[in-house]
Amino acid sequence: MEMSKIMIGAMRFKDRESARQTIHAAIDAGFNYIDTSPCYCYTSATDNSETWVGDAVNEGDYRSRVMMSAKCSPGNGGMGLGDFEPDTGFGVRSAEQLEQVFNQSLKRQNLDKFDYYHMWTTHTMEQFNEASKAGGWLDGVRKMSDKWDHLGITTHADTNTIIAFLASGLFETVTIPLNVVNRTRLGVLEYCSRNNIRVIAMNPLAGGFLASHDRLKELALRYLMSLHNVHLLIGFSAVEDVAYAKWIQDTMSECGMSTAEILAEVDSIVNSDEPRCTGCGYCAPCPQGINVGASLSYYNLYKYVKMESAKTSFQEKQWEDGLRLDKCVKCGLCSSRCPNALPLDKIIQDAKKVLYA
Ligand code: SF4
Ligand code: SF4
Repeated sequence: MEMSKIMIGAMRFKDRESARQTIHAAIDAGFNYIDTSPCYCYTSATDNSETWVGDAVNEGDYRSRVMMSAKCSPGNGGMGLGDFEPDTGFGVRSAEQLEQVFNQSLKRQNLDKFDYYHMWTTHTMEQFNEASKAGGWLDGVRKMSDKWDHLGITTHADTNTIIAFLASGLFETVTIPLNVVNRTRLGVLEYCSRNNIRVIAMNPLAGGFLASHDRLKELALRYLMSLHNVHLLIGFSAVEDVAYAKWIQDTMSECGMSTAEILAEVDSIVNSDEPRCTGCGYCAPCPQGINVGASLSYYNLYKYVKMESAKTSFQEKQWEDGLRLDKCVKCGLCSSRCPNALPLDKIIQDAKKVLYA
Protein backbone atom coordinates (compact mmCIF):
# COMPACT_ATOMS: atom_id res chain seq x y z
CA MET A 1 0.00 0.00 0.00
CA GLU A 2 1.43 3.43 -0.95
CA MET A 3 1.54 5.78 2.03
CA SER A 4 -0.95 8.65 1.66
CA LYS A 5 0.33 12.23 1.72
CA ILE A 6 -1.92 13.02 4.71
CA MET A 7 -1.77 10.72 7.73
CA ILE A 8 -4.02 10.24 10.72
CA GLY A 9 -2.58 11.43 14.02
CA ALA A 10 -4.45 9.78 16.91
CA MET A 11 -3.40 12.06 19.77
CA ARG A 12 -6.24 14.60 19.91
CA PHE A 13 -9.42 12.54 20.13
CA LYS A 14 -12.00 13.52 22.73
CA ASP A 15 -13.47 10.07 23.38
CA ARG A 16 -13.96 6.61 21.91
CA GLU A 17 -16.98 7.51 19.77
CA SER A 18 -15.52 10.68 18.25
CA ALA A 19 -12.29 8.73 17.58
CA ARG A 20 -14.30 6.05 15.80
CA GLN A 21 -16.18 8.52 13.60
CA THR A 22 -13.07 10.57 12.83
CA ILE A 23 -10.93 7.54 11.95
CA HIS A 24 -13.62 6.11 9.68
CA ALA A 25 -14.03 9.49 7.93
CA ALA A 26 -10.26 9.80 7.49
CA ILE A 27 -9.83 6.32 6.03
CA ASP A 28 -12.84 6.94 3.76
CA ALA A 29 -11.08 10.14 2.63
CA GLY A 30 -8.09 8.04 1.54
CA PHE A 31 -5.77 8.80 4.48
CA ASN A 32 -4.22 5.41 5.07
CA TYR A 33 -1.76 5.59 7.94
CA ILE A 34 -2.52 5.88 11.68
CA ASP A 35 0.02 7.12 14.19
CA THR A 36 -0.70 6.44 17.84
CA SER A 37 1.26 5.78 21.03
CA PRO A 38 0.70 4.12 24.40
CA CYS A 39 0.31 7.51 26.13
CA TYR A 40 -2.04 9.39 23.78
CA CYS A 41 -5.45 10.11 25.34
CA TYR A 42 -4.50 7.74 28.16
CA THR A 43 -6.85 7.50 31.13
CA SER A 44 -6.61 3.75 31.75
CA ALA A 45 -5.32 0.52 30.22
CA THR A 46 -8.63 0.09 28.40
CA ASP A 47 -9.40 3.74 27.64
CA ASN A 48 -6.74 5.33 25.47
CA SER A 49 -5.90 6.17 21.87
CA GLU A 50 -4.58 2.69 21.10
CA THR A 51 -7.76 0.91 22.21
CA TRP A 52 -9.95 3.49 20.43
CA VAL A 53 -7.92 3.10 17.23
CA GLY A 54 -8.08 -0.69 17.57
CA ASP A 55 -11.86 -0.63 17.94
CA ALA A 56 -12.30 1.68 14.94
CA VAL A 57 -10.09 -0.14 12.46
CA ASN A 58 -11.33 -3.60 13.34
CA GLU A 59 -14.83 -2.66 12.16
CA GLY A 60 -15.91 -3.54 8.63
CA ASP A 61 -13.05 -3.55 6.11
CA TYR A 62 -11.20 -0.56 7.59
CA ARG A 63 -8.17 -2.60 8.67
CA SER A 64 -7.48 -3.64 5.08
CA ARG A 65 -7.41 0.03 3.99
CA VAL A 66 -4.99 1.45 6.54
CA MET A 67 -1.43 1.00 7.78
CA MET A 68 -1.07 0.63 11.54
CA SER A 69 1.79 1.70 13.76
CA ALA A 70 2.98 1.85 17.33
CA LYS A 71 5.99 3.19 19.18
CA CYS A 72 7.81 3.32 22.46
CA SER A 73 10.72 5.35 23.75
CA PRO A 74 14.13 4.65 25.24
CA GLY A 75 13.86 8.11 26.82
CA ASN A 76 11.57 9.98 29.17
CA GLY A 77 9.75 12.05 26.53
CA GLY A 78 12.20 14.91 27.04
CA MET A 79 15.97 14.89 26.74
CA GLY A 80 16.66 12.30 29.45
CA LEU A 81 16.60 8.57 30.04
CA GLY A 82 13.51 7.73 32.00
CA ASP A 83 12.40 5.02 34.35
CA PHE A 84 10.35 2.28 32.73
CA GLU A 85 6.69 3.25 32.43
CA PRO A 86 4.98 0.36 30.61
CA ASP A 87 1.50 1.94 30.47
CA THR A 88 2.69 5.01 28.59
CA GLY A 89 5.69 3.51 26.74
CA PHE A 90 8.52 5.64 28.14
CA GLY A 91 11.88 4.52 29.56
CA VAL A 92 12.03 1.32 27.49
CA ARG A 93 15.68 0.44 28.13
CA SER A 94 15.88 -3.35 27.71
CA ALA A 95 14.80 -5.90 25.10
CA GLU A 96 12.41 -7.46 27.63
CA GLN A 97 10.78 -4.09 28.34
CA LEU A 98 10.36 -3.48 24.63
CA GLU A 99 8.71 -6.86 24.17
CA GLN A 100 6.29 -6.07 27.01
CA VAL A 101 5.26 -2.68 25.59
CA PHE A 102 5.17 -3.97 22.01
CA ASN A 103 2.81 -6.81 22.96
CA GLN A 104 0.71 -4.41 25.03
CA SER A 105 0.23 -2.20 21.93
CA LEU A 106 -0.68 -5.21 19.78
CA LYS A 107 -3.26 -6.22 22.35
CA ARG A 108 -4.68 -2.72 22.80
CA GLN A 109 -4.97 -2.23 19.02
CA ASN A 110 -6.27 -5.80 18.60
CA LEU A 111 -3.71 -6.62 15.90
CA ASP A 112 -1.34 -9.49 15.07
CA LYS A 113 1.25 -7.25 13.49
CA PHE A 114 2.20 -3.60 12.85
CA ASP A 115 3.04 -2.13 9.49
CA TYR A 116 5.39 0.35 11.20
CA TYR A 117 7.12 0.45 14.57
CA HIS A 118 8.93 3.59 15.74
CA MET A 119 11.75 4.42 18.10
CA TRP A 120 9.82 7.25 19.74
CA THR A 121 10.92 10.56 21.36
CA THR A 122 14.61 9.91 20.75
CA HIS A 123 16.10 13.39 20.84
CA THR A 124 19.73 12.93 21.88
CA MET A 125 22.71 10.75 20.99
CA GLU A 126 22.71 9.55 24.60
CA GLN A 127 19.17 8.18 24.15
CA PHE A 128 20.05 6.63 20.78
CA ASN A 129 23.18 4.97 22.22
CA GLU A 130 21.13 3.65 25.13
CA ALA A 131 18.67 2.14 22.63
CA SER A 132 21.57 0.60 20.66
CA LYS A 133 23.34 -1.07 23.60
CA ALA A 134 23.43 -4.90 23.78
CA GLY A 135 20.13 -6.16 25.16
CA GLY A 136 18.49 -2.76 24.66
CA TRP A 137 15.62 -1.25 22.63
CA LEU A 138 17.00 -2.23 19.21
CA ASP A 139 17.78 -5.79 20.19
CA GLY A 140 14.23 -6.02 21.52
CA VAL A 141 12.66 -4.75 18.31
CA ARG A 142 14.83 -7.12 16.25
CA LYS A 143 13.48 -10.01 18.34
CA MET A 144 9.95 -8.93 17.38
CA SER A 145 10.78 -8.55 13.66
CA ASP A 146 8.13 -11.02 12.54
CA LYS A 147 5.53 -8.62 14.00
CA TRP A 148 6.44 -5.42 12.14
CA ASP A 149 7.30 -4.61 8.51
CA HIS A 150 9.05 -1.24 8.69
CA LEU A 151 11.03 0.66 11.31
CA GLY A 152 10.95 4.42 11.85
CA ILE A 153 12.27 7.00 14.31
CA THR A 154 10.45 9.96 15.85
CA THR A 155 12.60 12.81 17.07
CA HIS A 156 12.87 16.50 17.94
CA ALA A 157 16.69 16.52 17.65
CA ASP A 158 18.55 19.10 15.54
CA THR A 159 19.31 18.37 11.86
CA ASN A 160 22.86 17.01 12.34
CA THR A 161 21.82 14.66 15.15
CA ILE A 162 18.86 13.39 13.12
CA ILE A 163 21.13 12.69 10.15
CA ALA A 164 23.48 10.79 12.49
CA PHE A 165 20.51 8.64 13.63
CA LEU A 166 19.51 8.00 10.01
CA ALA A 167 23.07 7.16 8.97
CA SER A 168 22.67 3.98 11.03
CA GLY A 169 20.65 2.72 8.05
CA LEU A 170 18.02 1.33 10.42
CA PHE A 171 15.06 3.53 9.57
CA GLU A 172 12.68 3.84 6.60
CA THR A 173 10.83 6.86 8.02
CA VAL A 174 11.71 9.79 10.22
CA THR A 175 9.05 11.81 12.02
CA ILE A 176 10.15 15.38 12.80
CA PRO A 177 8.54 18.67 13.83
CA LEU A 178 8.20 20.63 10.59
CA ASN A 179 5.80 23.41 9.72
CA VAL A 180 5.64 26.70 7.92
CA VAL A 181 6.90 28.69 10.93
CA ASN A 182 9.44 26.09 12.08
CA ARG A 183 11.63 25.09 9.17
CA THR A 184 14.73 24.53 11.26
CA ARG A 185 15.11 20.90 10.13
CA LEU A 186 14.80 21.32 6.36
CA GLY A 187 18.30 19.86 5.95
CA VAL A 188 16.83 16.48 6.92
CA LEU A 189 14.67 16.50 3.76
CA GLU A 190 17.58 16.58 1.39
CA TYR A 191 19.30 13.70 3.22
CA CYS A 192 16.11 11.66 3.18
CA SER A 193 15.48 12.20 -0.53
CA ARG A 194 18.98 10.96 -1.31
CA ASN A 195 18.59 7.94 0.96
CA ASN A 196 15.03 6.93 0.20
CA ILE A 197 13.69 7.69 3.68
CA ARG A 198 10.21 9.11 4.04
CA VAL A 199 9.74 12.25 6.13
CA ILE A 200 6.66 12.49 8.33
CA ALA A 201 5.98 16.07 9.45
CA MET A 202 4.50 16.25 12.92
CA ASN A 203 3.11 19.49 14.35
CA PRO A 204 1.94 20.71 10.91
CA LEU A 205 -0.03 23.47 12.66
CA ALA A 206 2.71 24.15 15.24
CA GLY A 207 0.98 22.12 17.91
CA GLY A 208 -2.42 23.46 16.82
CA PHE A 209 -1.94 27.15 17.46
CA LEU A 210 -1.76 28.15 13.79
CA ALA A 211 -5.36 26.96 13.57
CA SER A 212 -6.42 30.16 15.34
CA HIS A 213 -5.49 32.20 12.24
CA ASP A 214 -7.56 31.10 9.22
CA ARG A 215 -5.12 32.08 6.50
CA LEU A 216 -2.02 30.81 8.31
CA LYS A 217 -3.80 27.52 8.96
CA GLU A 218 -4.47 27.06 5.25
CA LEU A 219 -0.99 28.16 4.22
CA ALA A 220 0.59 25.88 6.82
CA LEU A 221 -1.05 22.79 5.34
CA ARG A 222 -0.48 23.93 1.75
CA TYR A 223 3.22 24.49 2.53
CA LEU A 224 3.73 20.89 3.69
CA MET A 225 1.58 19.55 0.84
CA SER A 226 3.90 21.33 -1.59
CA LEU A 227 7.04 19.57 -0.30
CA HIS A 228 8.29 16.45 -2.03
CA ASN A 229 8.71 13.28 0.08
CA VAL A 230 6.95 14.84 3.08
CA HIS A 231 3.83 13.36 4.67
CA LEU A 232 1.58 15.43 6.94
CA LEU A 233 0.73 13.86 10.27
CA ILE A 234 -2.41 15.72 11.30
CA GLY A 235 -3.84 15.24 14.78
CA PHE A 236 -7.53 15.04 13.90
CA SER A 237 -10.00 15.57 16.71
CA ALA A 238 -13.24 15.63 14.72
CA VAL A 239 -14.77 14.74 11.35
CA GLU A 240 -14.66 18.46 10.35
CA ASP A 241 -10.83 18.42 10.64
CA VAL A 242 -10.74 15.53 8.19
CA ALA A 243 -13.01 17.38 5.77
CA TYR A 244 -10.75 20.46 5.94
CA ALA A 245 -7.61 18.42 5.23
CA LYS A 246 -9.34 16.68 2.32
CA TRP A 247 -10.36 20.07 0.92
CA ILE A 248 -6.75 21.28 1.14
CA GLN A 249 -5.55 18.15 -0.67
CA ASP A 250 -8.23 18.33 -3.37
CA THR A 251 -7.63 22.01 -4.12
CA MET A 252 -3.84 22.05 -4.31
CA SER A 253 -3.64 22.38 -8.10
CA GLU A 254 -6.59 24.77 -8.21
CA CYS A 255 -4.87 26.97 -5.61
CA GLY A 256 -1.75 26.93 -7.80
CA MET A 257 0.67 28.39 -5.24
CA SER A 258 4.31 27.30 -5.33
CA THR A 259 6.24 26.70 -2.11
CA ALA A 260 7.98 30.06 -2.58
CA GLU A 261 4.67 31.89 -3.04
CA ILE A 262 3.25 30.28 0.09
CA LEU A 263 6.28 31.33 2.12
CA ALA A 264 6.14 34.85 0.69
CA GLU A 265 2.53 35.19 1.83
CA VAL A 266 3.40 33.86 5.29
CA ASP A 267 6.18 36.44 5.44
CA SER A 268 3.75 39.19 4.52
CA ILE A 269 1.44 38.11 7.37
CA VAL A 270 4.30 37.94 9.87
CA ASN A 271 5.24 41.46 8.86
CA SER A 272 7.91 43.35 10.76
CA ASP A 273 10.02 46.46 10.21
CA GLU A 274 12.79 44.91 12.25
CA PRO A 275 15.08 42.09 11.07
CA ARG A 276 13.55 38.87 12.36
CA CYS A 277 14.36 35.19 12.58
CA THR A 278 13.32 33.24 9.49
CA GLY A 279 13.59 29.85 11.22
CA CYS A 280 16.36 28.54 8.95
CA GLY A 281 18.05 26.59 11.75
CA TYR A 282 21.64 27.46 10.78
CA CYS A 283 22.38 28.57 14.33
CA ALA A 284 22.04 24.99 15.68
CA PRO A 285 23.25 23.28 17.70
CA CYS A 286 22.98 25.32 20.88
CA PRO A 287 25.04 23.88 23.75
CA GLN A 288 21.98 24.28 25.99
CA GLY A 289 19.76 22.29 23.61
CA ILE A 290 17.67 25.34 22.69
CA ASN A 291 16.06 25.39 19.24
CA VAL A 292 16.44 29.12 18.66
CA GLY A 293 14.54 29.15 15.34
CA ALA A 294 11.57 27.23 16.73
CA SER A 295 11.43 29.40 19.86
CA LEU A 296 11.59 32.63 17.89
CA SER A 297 8.77 31.50 15.57
CA TYR A 298 6.44 31.72 18.58
CA TYR A 299 7.92 35.12 19.47
CA ASN A 300 7.40 36.43 15.92
CA LEU A 301 3.78 35.33 15.79
CA TYR A 302 3.04 36.75 19.19
CA LYS A 303 4.82 40.02 18.57
CA TYR A 304 4.04 40.72 14.90
CA VAL A 305 0.74 38.87 14.29
CA LYS A 306 -0.62 39.47 17.80
CA MET A 307 -1.47 35.79 18.20
CA GLU A 308 -2.09 35.25 21.91
CA SER A 309 -2.18 31.49 21.26
CA ALA A 310 1.50 31.60 20.24
CA LYS A 311 2.46 32.51 23.80
CA THR A 312 0.17 29.91 25.38
CA SER A 313 1.39 27.23 23.03
CA PHE A 314 5.05 28.15 23.68
CA GLN A 315 4.48 27.79 27.41
CA GLU A 316 2.60 24.50 27.05
CA LYS A 317 5.24 22.96 24.82
CA GLN A 318 8.25 23.79 26.99
CA TRP A 319 9.07 20.13 27.47
CA GLU A 320 9.56 19.51 23.79
CA ASP A 321 11.30 20.89 20.75
CA GLY A 322 13.97 22.85 22.60
CA LEU A 323 11.77 25.79 23.58
CA ARG A 324 13.81 26.47 26.72
CA LEU A 325 14.91 30.06 26.21
CA ASP A 326 15.16 30.32 29.99
CA LYS A 327 18.23 28.06 29.75
CA CYS A 328 20.16 30.47 27.52
CA VAL A 329 23.60 31.28 29.00
CA LYS A 330 24.34 34.03 26.45
CA CYS A 331 27.33 32.19 24.97
CA GLY A 332 26.84 34.02 21.65
CA LEU A 333 27.26 30.91 19.46
CA CYS A 334 23.88 31.31 17.74
CA SER A 335 24.62 34.97 16.89
CA SER A 336 27.96 34.01 15.37
CA ARG A 337 26.27 31.46 13.06
CA CYS A 338 23.16 33.39 12.04
CA PRO A 339 23.34 34.28 8.31
CA ASN A 340 20.89 37.13 8.93
CA ALA A 341 23.31 38.66 11.47
CA LEU A 342 20.47 39.09 13.93
CA PRO A 343 21.19 40.75 17.27
CA LEU A 344 20.21 37.50 18.98
CA ASP A 345 21.38 38.51 22.43
CA LYS A 346 18.81 41.31 22.45
CA ILE A 347 16.10 39.30 20.63
CA ILE A 348 16.38 36.27 22.94
CA GLN A 349 16.18 38.48 26.03
CA ASP A 350 13.08 40.21 24.67
CA ALA A 351 11.53 36.87 23.63
CA LYS A 352 12.08 35.53 27.16
CA LYS A 353 10.47 38.60 28.67
CA VAL A 354 7.47 38.40 26.33
CA LEU A 355 6.87 34.64 26.13
CA TYR A 356 7.32 33.79 29.80
CA ALA A 357 5.29 36.76 31.03
S1 SF4 B 1 18.35 32.89 14.63
FE1 SF4 B 1 19.25 33.17 12.58
S2 SF4 B 1 20.25 31.20 12.12
FE2 SF4 B 1 18.85 30.83 13.84
S3 SF4 B 1 16.97 30.12 12.88
FE3 SF4 B 1 16.76 32.34 13.13
S4 SF4 B 1 17.47 33.26 11.22
FE4 SF4 B 1 18.19 31.12 11.24
S1 SF4 C 1 23.33 32.38 23.20
FE1 SF4 C 1 21.81 31.10 24.28
S2 SF4 C 1 20.50 30.28 22.66
FE2 SF4 C 1 22.36 31.06 21.65
S3 SF4 C 1 23.68 29.26 21.50
FE3 SF4 C 1 24.22 30.30 23.41
S4 SF4 C 1 22.95 29.32 25.00
FE4 SF4 C 1 22.10 28.76 23.00
